[in-house]
Amino acid sequence: MIRLNNIKKIYNKGSKENELIALNDLDLEISEGEFLAIMGPSGSGKTTLLNILGLMDSFDQGEYHFFDTQVEKLNRKDMDKFRSQKIGFVFQQFMLLPDYTVFENAEIPLRARNIKRSKRKEIIMKLLEQVGMEKYAKTIPSRLSGGQKQRCAIVRALVNEPDLILADEPTGALDRKTGQEIMNLLKELNKKGKTIIVVTHDPTVADKADRIINLEDGRIISDITKEKE
Ligand code: ADP
Ligand code: MG
Repeated sequence: MIRLNNIKKIYNKGSKENELIALNDLDLEISEGEFLAIMGPSGSGKTTLLNILGLMDSFDQGEYHFFDTQVEKLNRKDMDKFRSQKIGFVFQQFMLLPDYTVFENAEIPLRARNIKRSKRKEIIMKLLEQVGMEKYAKTIPSRLSGGQKQRCAIVRALVNEPDLILADEPTGALDRKTGQEIMNLLKELNKKGKTIIVVTHDPTVADKADRIINLEDGRIISDITKEKE
């Protein structure tokens, strides 16, 4: 599904003092249906890698293949379209709009695609039910617990039926038990066929994944796939 070849990401390129190689000749292949955790110390390049996978950031060398598309060859407009159709994002700080209800937050990606109201409602209510949030459709985020906010954010990530879900420390703002519940939810989605990539520094969170890669100084230093249970 995804193939990164020889990816290099340099920040502050050309500045002798500040140039920083965040990803160094990185190769990575991810198959459809995988549940992958990216671990590594702070500054090792986890977020940079996730942003590149999510077409949120460019890179300085290498190739990114997503199915049959060579991503870096797309123009800006096609890349935006590709991203919104293929990839859903989940963040540590949820990134919900505070003045919008749960339903309205989930509606944003659908409105951007001009999906009509009845269809939006059908898609969103089904997903809210799936994550146990159907009662909160008209609630604003400040009235929700952290776990409920993240469930809402996961619904927003799912409305366009993306092939890939990317999550940067999705449990980082949650207590341990709630974090495990969110990981269980991601696991369920994975069992239904979604490819999921989670960045975390918490081994108990990474343990839910089937494959764990460890980054250090912008390189993959280990890549371990669990035996199927
Ligand atoms: P992680 O998520 O593993 O903590 P990051 O991918 O955020 O690591 O960062 C990798 C390295 O790149 C770090 O040394 C960080 O300071 C640097 N870095 C990240 N983003 C930028 C940026 N926008 N400009 C310059 N340096 C950056
Ligand atoms: Mg990070």
